[in-house]
Amino acid sequence: MSRSAPPPGSRPALLRFLGGVRTVTGSKFLIESDHARILVDCGLFQGVADLRRRNWDKLPCDARDIHAVVVTHAHLDHCGYLPRLVRHGFRGPILTSAATARLAEIVLRDSARLQMEAAEHANHHGWSKHRPARPLYDDDDVDRTVEFFDPVPVGSEIEIMAGTGLALHHGGHILGSAWARLTLEDGHSLAVSGDLGRPGHPLLLPPEPFSGADVLLVESTYGNRRHDHESARRAFASVLARALSRGGTVVIPAFAIDRTEVVLHELAGLRGDGTLPRHVPVYVDSPMALAALDVYRDALRSRSPELRPEIAAGGEAAISPEPFLAARTVQESIDINHSTGPAVIVSSAGMATGGRVLHHLHRILPDPRNAVVIVGFAAEGTRARDLVDGARTLKMFGEYVPVRAEVADVPHFSAHADADQIIDWLRAAPPPHTTYLVHGEETAAETLRERIDHELGWTAVVPRSGEAVLVR
Ligand SMILES: [Zn+2]
Repeated sequence: MSRSAPPPGSRPALLRFLGGVRTVTGSKFLIESDHARILVDCGLFQGVADLRRRNWDKLPCDARDIHAVVVTHAHLDHCGYLPRLVRHGFRGPILTSAATARLAEIVLRDSARLQMEAAEHANHHGWSKHRPARPLYDDDDVDRTVEFFDPVPVGSEIEIMAGTGLALHHGGHILGSAWARLTLEDGHSLAVSGDLGRPGHPLLLPPEPFSGADVLLVESTYGNRRHDHESARRAFASVLARALSRGGTVVIPAFAIDRTEVVLHELAGLRGDGTLPRHVPVYVDSPMALAALDVYRDALRSRSPELRPEIAAGGEAAISPEPFLAARTVQESIDINHSTGPAVIVSSAGMATGGRVLHHLHRILPDPRNAVVIVGFAAEGTRARDLVDGARTLKMFGEYVPVRAEVADVPHFSAHADADQIIDWLRAAPPPHTTYLVHGEETAAETLRERIDHELGWTAVVPRSGEAVLVR
């Protein structure tokens, strides 16, 4: 890597960790060199109230002084703060892949709607500390934000401004995801992994190999775990077969982006081998998931290079378990409740914290013929976690509903690389000067830090929130 002395007069760039350290949300990394101020990822803090409050904190610099934002992918914890940044005066390009630009718009519109609803609810019930309660941003902020999206080609270097280059490389995590490599004025380089996909993603190619950088920020969401996807797929198939043979309905709470497509792909396969008979309809009941599904379909139709070639060759069939019905309107969602006979319903929110899936759970949980399959990470304090933990009742819409349906926990459909896969991704590259473990809970980040230290012999650090370091 470029360890040569910087050109005379130029100081090393400063990297500040503004979010996404020792937690999995709020990813924000600010790089300040002599002439450029660039933010990599602009995520929202999510989860417990203490974290969410941090979305109201002031940034250490004026949003108007940031020249560009690089966004690795469309998940809210990486792009959800953008409209707030624009509200505060950011007017530069938002550099990202074309698919991320489309998916991020869907995500941001949904986020604005949720925030507006929450503020309205708080004002109505008078529980907010702010009077009146206000959303972090609204629809108008999102309208303004999407005008700054500036899609860049993946795989080739572009110049952001004189002396500062950017290259995005496929991240294999969700459609459009990328890891980013910045080349700074003084010749030093910095790479940010974003969220890394698992090499076994059924639709996407594995992340492009890490080619090296002076400073690396690598995610550590599952830094202390190992996934077993084959047994997860078998468990998924067998719970489905059991419920359908009882004449039951299967509800799958799924995150709107990527998880829905992975589940549909799995269902298409089970349709093919007869596990899912043709008379059992599959419903997707989530406007946001359906909007994202269109972006995936376009990628399949255009044979996007980030897709596995065998998937791209088959076109939309890969994620179409026909007969397959989309519920966009509220009436279409309600109509599902009146369908008789077994069915499979894929709906969000993924952790059953809200959204249309609650209505389906409310209806199917009391009947032991039915099943609920939790296919993703279920955080503490969510209904999905309560179900996984064996709750006998679940509170919804102000009442307790008995849980008699079968509950299956299949968490290994994750879109993240596990610890071994991250180590493999790093292994081939020359050692960076320093590797920072970001985007992981404390124990996960620390476990991965130790492995990078011991197995690769690299200098690895779990940074503190707000900490600043030199890029050299
Ligand atoms: Zn992500």
